[in-house]
Amino acid sequence: MMAQYIEIKAANPDCLLFYRMGDFYELFFQDAEIASRALGIVLTKRGKHAGDDIPMCGVPVERSDDYLHRLIAQGHRVAVCEQTEEPAEAKKRGPKSVVRREVVRLVTPGTITEDRLLDPARANLLLAIGRRKVSDSEHAYGLAALDISTGRFALSEVRAADLPGAIARHDPREIVLSEAIHADAGLARLWDETPAAVTPLAQAELEPASAERRIREFYGVSTLDGFGSFSRAELAAAGAALLYIERTQFGARPALQPPSREAGGATMGIDAATRANLELTRTLSSERGGSLLGAIDRTVTASGARLLAEHLAGPLTDVPAIARRQEAVAFLAEEHGLRRDLRDALARAPDIARALSRVGLGRAGPRDLAALRDGLEAAADLALRLGEAALLPEALDTLREGLGRADPALAAELRAALADDLPLSRRDGGFVRAGYHPEIDEARLLGQDSRKVVAALQARYAEESGCRTLRIKHNNLLGYFIEVPQAVGEACLKGLMRDFVHRQTMVDAMRFTSVELGDLESRISGASDRALALEAGVFEDLAARVVAAEGAVAQVSEALAGLDVASSHAEVAVELDWSRPLVDDSLAFAVEGGRHPVVEAALRRRGEPFIANSCDLSGEGRGRIRLVTGPNMGGKSTFLRQNALIAVLAQVGAFVPATRAHVGLVDRLFSRVGAADDLARGQSTFMVEMVETAAILNQATRRSLVILDEIGRGTATFDGLSIAWACLEHLHETNACRALFATHFHELTALGQRLARLDNATLKVAEHRGEVVFLHEVVEGTAERSYGLQVARLAGLPAGVVTRAGAILKGLEKAERARPGKPRIDDLPLFASIDPPAPPAPEPEDRLGALLDAIDPDALTPREALDALYRLKRER
Ligand code: ADP
Repeated sequence: MMAQYIEIKAANPDCLLFYRMGDFYELFFQDAEIASRALGIVLTKRGKHAGDDIPMCGVPVERSDDYLHRLIAQGHRVAVCEQTEEPAEAKKRGPKSVVRREVVRLVTPGTITEDRLLDPARANLLLAIGRRKVSDSEHAYGLAALDISTGRFALSEVRAADLPGAIARHDPREIVLSEAIHADAGLARLWDETPAAVTPLAQAELEPASAERRIREFYGVSTLDGFGSFSRAELAAAGAALLYIERTQFGARPALQPPSREAGGATMGIDAATRANLELTRTLSSERGGSLLGAIDRTVTASGARLLAEHLAGPLTDVPAIARRQEAVAFLAEEHGLRRDLRDALARAPDIARALSRVGLGRAGPRDLAALRDGLEAAADLALRLGEAALLPEALDTLREGLGRADPALAAELRAALADDLPLSRRDGGFVRAGYHPEIDEARLLGQDSRKVVAALQARYAEESGCRTLRIKHNNLLGYFIEVPQAVGEACLKGLMRDFVHRQTMVDAMRFTSVELGDLESRISGASDRALALEAGVFEDLAARVVAAEGAVAQVSEALAGLDVASSHAEVAVELDWSRPLVDDSLAFAVEGGRHPVVEAALRRRGEPFIANSCDLSGEGRGRIRLVTGPNMGGKSTFLRQNALIAVLAQVGAFVPATRAHVGLVDRLFSRVGAADDLARGQSTFMVEMVETAAILNQATRRSLVILDEIGRGTATFDGLSIAWACLEHLHETNACRALFATHFHELTALGQRLARLDNATLKVAEHRGEVVFLHEVVEGTAERSYGLQVARLAGLPAGVVTRAGAILKGLEKAERARPGKPRIDDLPLFASIDPPAPPAPEPEDRLGALLDAIDPDALTPREALDALYRLKRER
């Protein structure tokens, strides 16, 4: 058996092998160690291999789903290895033969389809990556984003620099790629940092020619021209994706839509850091609640929730497409009655995309068919209701057509065929409605009749034996049997004993069978077997009809999701009083009365008002930069982010939290927070900050929107200020983009006089009896003071420390007054001499100091350090 195990394991080296042994899946060697840690189950041992104990752990087959779920959630892959013959057959081959076993499925994070293993509100993407050379030193990357649980299959190509952003946008559960791409040193950090499981595939299997052939074969077409034209990198990615599907599904064919191609630059470029920082679809701690998505999601269907997340992750850059979405939202926002009706009907529509995928893979149950029935019926109702509305905008009319795509006969057939109460598994039977299939009814009747005959037989035996407590019972071991109490015994059975065969003697009863009962039993089980077989046939027929209508059903599902998203936006717009932004090709960015949707919602729960703020970055032909200073806690970050979120929402086609907004298309959005705010990233935070800032300065175009919050904070004041200064100049002169720049370096505000398109803004603060009151209102000008001490007091710093800080501050300010004039970089107050505590005046000849300067502690051995110490003491 171990030999068989080792052979199968060798063929699946990158998976945990669930090796079927009776009622358990067992894991051995390192797999056992990994799984026992991951699942918190006991690690034991079994037998020896090469003289050592073999570590082992096991999970019961019945509860294996739970364990699978936990392993997959932690990014593991599992090969499920089943016994594929009966033990008796193995015995026939020889007394020592081992039962044949085969891997029947690979379960990996990116290829699951079971509802129990999936998050309904999140797409479960497998992202395959291919590449092609565009020059000697550069590659272009093809991406195939495939959701096997819904059949979505989208291809795109990006430049190397945009690869991280594109991966972050897709937010895949699993990435497959060639070994070469995986081994590329320039990309290593990507694979280390992504939360997705990363699976390299052997180069030999990914030849370009075989990629194209694989796609053709999968869709049964002789040329791909009908799907559009794809780059070599895209084809390589699509081929890798399909190869991986074959590899994991063992012949089951998922219902994938034909690959669709997304043009480069069709969505706003948002890199991973910006995405995380703006908390678009999840917060920094990976929660959905507290993110922009959490704040605006009013969808009522799972597929709508997934589509909304996808839209938010990729705002559009096409004005007409944005306008079409906006029109649908505007219409639904106006039509309250229609919106309510649509949302009621949508709420009744189950997730047909995922049900469809399971039907295609042969993993569906009766409830999946029922979901398709209910979803298709709800879609038909919705199409009718939409059809009644006058002056439907184009986008809604397109959705209406989509909703009506499926042949009504399919839903009608499912309604006629399926019973009201459905079992989980088709093997349980009983899901076909009475009256749908005459032969099933007949077989069921026979089963029921036979039960009546059993009752009659029991009555007759009781009568004939005179034993009124004689019963005919059933259990799994014996099947049907006759039972009489021990006390009655054989004596009273008299003549009947001729027919009875003794089966079992219990403490208080005896059990028999009879020829008549045996006949009856086989009739009963024959009837139920027959009914089950007939039901299985009905299931197959229905599933085949669904698969035949695959394309239409997928379109209905997309239309349901699209309608749900549009009505969700409309709901938010009405509920929170948002307005429709003007989006065009200009370089404007003008927001009046803007608000931060998440902060506002949090304040509302506490009964506090949010102060709306305006922001104008519209430059004539070139962007403007707004430099925001103000005390900590004043609302700088909130102000910066709300404007970035408004740009995202505007290009998603939604309404925005502002009284008015004019957004000239943003091609790329960048947002960074100074390292001091970013503790989660650990050690070299300043390095990370600088790498990210470099990316912005190198990539931002005139069309971009840049949000920089406290850049330069992660290093010494002097360095930080210089860096922030130089970045501002670069953004202003070279990038010429629209930008918001928050800083606590008040010295930077002086730049406003030199840079024509730089405005200063600050957050208003009031003082009341020495206490600071944040008004959260953005006004022109610069902050007069930083109010750091007041904030420190509010935060509960010990009174003594605050008083002492006040004294030091006074000294600093006095020194500043003594040397007035415009602050220059080399003349910062912090570096000027201060009163208390006065720095010691440098000695004319500071021998001790010189000696100290000469010592490099890192370069000394302990012995040398001790010597140095003695030398220093001597000098004194
Ligand atoms: P800063 O970046 O200046 O330190 P934040 O933007 O983090 O300040 O804001 C601090 C807190 O002030 C927020 O958590 C919020 O509670 C409150 N706040 C910020 N902006 C507003 C606003 N416009 N209206 C009301 N409260 C606000």
